[in-house]
Amino acid sequence: LDRPQTSAASEAVKVVVRCRPISQNEIEQGHQRIIAIDSSRGVVEVKNPKEPSNPPKCFTFDSVYDENSKQIDLYYETFRDLVDSVLNGFNGTIFAYGQTGTGKTFTMEGVRDDTELRGVIPNAIDHIFRHIAQSNNQQYLVRASYLEIYQEEIRDLLDKNSKNRLELKERPDIGVYVKDLSSFVTKSAQEVHHIMSVGHSNRSVGRTNMNEHSSRSHAIFIVTVECCETGPDGENHIRVGRLNLVDLAGSERQAKTGAIGERFKEATKINLSLSALGNVISALVDGKSSHVPYRDSKLTRLLQDSLGGNSKTVMVANIGPASYNFEETMSTLRYASRAK
Ligand code: ADP
Ligand code: MG
Repeated sequence: LDRPQTSAASEAVKVVVRCRPISQNEIEQGHQRIIAIDSSRGVVEVKNPKEPSNPPKCFTFDSVYDENSKQIDLYYETFRDLVDSVLNGFNGTIFAYGQTGTGKTFTMEGVRDDTELRGVIPNAIDHIFRHIAQSNNQQYLVRASYLEIYQEEIRDLLDKNSKNRLELKERPDIGVYVKDLSSFVTKSAQEVHHIMSVGHSNRSVGRTNMNEHSSRSHAIFIVTVECCETGPDGENHIRVGRLNLVDLAGSERQAKTGAIGERFKEATKINLSLSALGNVISALVDGKSSHVPYRDSKLTRLLQDSLGGNSKTVMVANIGPASYNFEETMSTLRYASRAK
């Protein structure tokens, strides 16, 4: 079922780039910075460390954020509109894309109990509950779900007994959904944060190396906001918006990590859903393609009703500043350019 394209689709997709600070380790190891960011023009310049006399490669985006960017500035400039539209009954999706170690989780979650360092998820939750507290004539119901996609299998992170992979289904009235996925009604930001922590601890159950696991799986936190309002006609009107917050698997290619056997198969599957996502977003942005290939991966199928149509999408492409990441940085910027 391919939904028709509207010309507005291309405006509904925003791609921004964020470069993290160089780390102490990278400085000690003598790595050079190869990234220059011009925020006012939305330009990222990359120097090729092997050909230092060549002019840098330039890429332009909706917004670019340098190492000094503040979480709250990203929130106000880049994410807030999307969360507002979710409060108005539309779907929205925020992705963090990039090589492992470039700041995807920092951007999505950040330091949760630190108001300055907290990422888009806590800021969005805060925004949603502040909006609800200020509303008079509406009643809201907020629900949260948390799942991960690992090797093209869906796992419920809020049900520790569920070892089973969940299935994707589709119904004409509600669209694509995950069968048997748990969802919890939450009455405050604290309750949502508690649910996130539960999901986190379930995510690491049985993992000997959590970093490795999180670099190979997609984590999707879903907040559904239902609003019931009594119109002047005395009738109740219900609108439902869904906010998908996606910390994608690391985009690094397996060639660099020398993956073989199981690892190689795994890497192929990770790349499958990332390349499927790239294809879907670029078809949406293009606006001319009559076919959007949602069905090519679990990730794109799951998010089908939140990508395109009236939905808003923001992709944050995260990069590192150091010379040894040149190839991966170029590949992230090319991916992000295709999506804009
Ligand atoms: P990823 O999830 O992409 O693997 P992380 O979010 O874990 O990467 O970031 C790697 C490290 O870099 C972490 O220690 C994180 O705190 C730090 N970091 C990432 N982005 C920033 C930033 N914009 N400002 C400060 N520190 C950052
Ligand atoms: Mg991470």
